[in-house]
Amino acid sequence: MSARAHILPVFVPHLGCAHACVFCNQRRISGAGKPATAADVKNCIAQAAAFLPPGGKRQLAFYGGSFTAIPEGEQEALLGAAKQALDRGEIDAIRLSTRPDAIDDAVLRRLRLYGVETVELGAQSMDDAVLRRSERGHTAAAVERASRLIKAAGFRLILQMMTGLPGATDASDLDTARRLIALRPDGVRIYPTVIVKDTALYDMWRAGTYREHTVEDAVRVCARIVPLFEAAGIPVIRLGLNPTEELSGGAAAGGAYHPALGELVKSRILLEKARALLQGIPPGKSVVLTVGKGKTSQMAGQHRENLRRLREEFSLAEIRIREQAEADAELSIQT
Ligand code: SF4
Repeated sequence: MSARAHILPVFVPHLGCAHACVFCNQRRISGAGKPATAADVKNCIAQAAAFLPPGGKRQLAFYGGSFTAIPEGEQEALLGAAKQALDRGEIDAIRLSTRPDAIDDAVLRRLRLYGVETVELGAQSMDDAVLRRSERGHTAAAVERASRLIKAAGFRLILQMMTGLPGATDASDLDTARRLIALRPDGVRIYPTVIVKDTALYDMWRAGTYREHTVEDAVRVCARIVPLFEAAGIPVIRLGLNPTEELSGGAAAGGAYHPALGELVKSRILLEKARALLQGIPPGKSVVLTVGKGKTSQMAGQHRENLRRLREEFSLAEIRIREQAEADAELSIQT
């Protein structure tokens, strides 16, 4: 097994954002401290050297969404500090995230020069009407163009998508997933829409012009999206916003905010698989669901809800779960 990867995060305020995406708390973000400097990058790397256990890939990550849209001089100062550490072997890789319309050949040449390995692109949706209503300021074609340039230049490409944006439906979110798969990213992050206070989306929701994408909505659509990526061999490296004190403390006013959203989706995927396997089983049977190691609680669902549903839907006498020794064992049933 490979050693654990360590992310060394450097927060880059979104000074380069030409658009205020409706779901983004731009005011809070831009008020979140001073812009990171080269000294902050060096400090972050020094802290990692002092406190991280040895081993594991160390990735310096410029978080913030629009790295390549910030002024060139600032980008170069930050990248210069990161590259020095890369050359000295203090870190193993540099990654950053940005917008599709902030990518061109000149930008990618600069990133290559400074040793960036991974570019993460916020696609969010491949439906132009959804992008427009979300005030993203770019089209689906821009996502395709930027993705192709990033891959052709030899970077690792990570794509981010959201579900439940204004105007989105399950069908349009599934279509977004399929179009992202066609771009062959090295991984994806899926962020179901959360209604954060002090955003345009919050106002739209309060005014009744945006229908909330609930936790249940997100679980339902993501349980269909995740298997598409998995079948295509594209890892889903994150599902749902990272829980923070601020979000849990009230900033997340509505929408698909749940600290264990990824687990809920995995549990729903297993429920759907079990439903498919149980088709044709006569009523009154006792059934054993065999799952991979460590997957009993996912299969059972919160408060054993999956088992209750299956027992009722298929009129089973009894339903139990047995774990296999291997974690990746496929779900199967015995009667
Ligand atoms: S979502 Fe990204 S691009 Fe949009 S305003 Fe927020 S930081 Fe800027």
